[in-house]
Amino acid sequence: MAELPEGHMGDGFFATSLSKVVGLARKNSIWPLPFATSCCGIEFMATMGSHYDLSRFGSERVGFSPRQCDLLMVMGTIAKKMGPVVKQVYLQMAEPRWVIAVGACASSGGIFDTYSVLQGIDQVIPVDVYVPGCPPRPEAIIDGVMRIQDLVEKESIRRRDSDQYRGLLESYGIQ
Ligand code: SF4
Repeated sequence: MAELPEGHMGDGFFATSLSKVVGLARKNSIWPLPFATSCCGIEFMATMGSHYDLSRFGSERVGFSPRQCDLLMVMGTIAKKMGPVVKQVYLQMAEPRWVIAVGACASSGGIFDTYSVLQGIDQVIPVDVYVPGCPPRPEAIIDGVMRIQDLVEKESIRRRDSDQYRGLLESYGIQ
């Protein structure tokens, strides 16, 4: 059951701000796009299974078209030559979009401190939440999704039009 946002309640009425209503709806209907390249993807499969059941958080609708998803979950080792592919998928997602780096490899390259592995996907796209672990257990992945829910719930509907957000995208060469 979703909790009511802050607002004013009286006999037969409840008033709150548009941002809070939109945040509440978005928070409980996040559609993940799993970008899984290696072992962390297996943990995501467990996260979606009946025991951990990510659908409890409104995220049962996993999509493989960037145009229909708003949460990019990058799981696994990302080789440097995969960096532009991750970025292209991100660019094809509509705003508002969020990103989780799941596991040590996606967050920092993990144990693969080599010439061929991207040392963290935040070198190519902005990341909202990092999930530690090699691999992270499903509980940690769920915790990461819940941290995203916190961000989604509190985000102003004007944030994506702000100079600060545009500046963030420009720092990644995204117009
Ligand atoms: S963080 Fe560990 S478990 Fe996850 S993809 Fe890298 S090596 Fe595999």
